[in-house]
Amino acid sequence: MIYIFPKLFSMIKWRHLSICLEHCPLCMSRRIIVRLDENELAVRCLWCRSSAVTMSLAAVLSAAAGDLESKEVYELSSRGPLFKHLKQRAGKLTFSEYFDQVGPGEFHNGVQCQDVQNLTYSDKSFDICTSTEVFEHVPDDLKGFSEIFRVLRPGGLFIFTVPLSGSVETVERARLKPNGRIEHLLPPEYHIDPARDHKGTLVFRNYGADIVQRLKNQGFSEAKLVNPEINIPWGLARRVVVCTK
Ligand SMILES: [Zn+2]
Repeated sequence: MIYIFPKLFSMIKWRHLSICLEHCPLCMSRRIIVRLDENELAVRCLWCRSSAVTMSLAAVLSAAAGDLESKEVYELSSRGPLFKHLKQRAGKLTFSEYFDQVGPGEFHNGVQCQDVQNLTYSDKSFDICTSTEVFEHVPDDLKGFSEIFRVLRPGGLFIFTVPLSGSVETVERARLKPNGRIEHLLPPEYHIDPARDHKGTLVFRNYGADIVQRLKNQGFSEAKLVNPEINIPWGLARRVVVCTK
């Protein structure tokens, strides 16, 4: 059944509203895609709700990893179109969320809490790790990258998206001090996804192209920014970070 999700109405900018029929890499079929605004998060498949960012990740994941049936995948979220896509297709899916008041490894409403800076999983647990729009919100992203590296098997893939500024260098906007307080180095920036019940989440940094070197410094043998090979409607594809252990 095709229907418009009520929360998406809040995203509509009527002068940008547009509709097309295009291949959705999550549905693996041609679908009606709507553009509600001129940014990639406001491009949505009407069937599975994926945004142009999620479509970009799913397309790159499919090209890089092939069939997921024989793979153990770890995804850093417990809901949304990518989660459902992986749940259907991965051989085994492990997933988590970060909850403020819950200890790492403990469960909250059936979902395991994990802090990506300090994962409770054993070394070499997964074939593939995925995330969308997470690491710009992680205080110590380098520790997070090294933890993903640790829990991947040799040859494993870390495939994820973050907003990329277009600059060469990553700009740190905030840092977490040893006393637990946040020090703002630039005016605070928050990300809000109107399609989800989110309060704004602080952006710790704006990533530049040097993100690939940040990943290699944590041990990855290869790290690159990859454009989806399929057409993402209205040219709103997001480059996806693909790293190999
Ligand atoms: Zn779809």
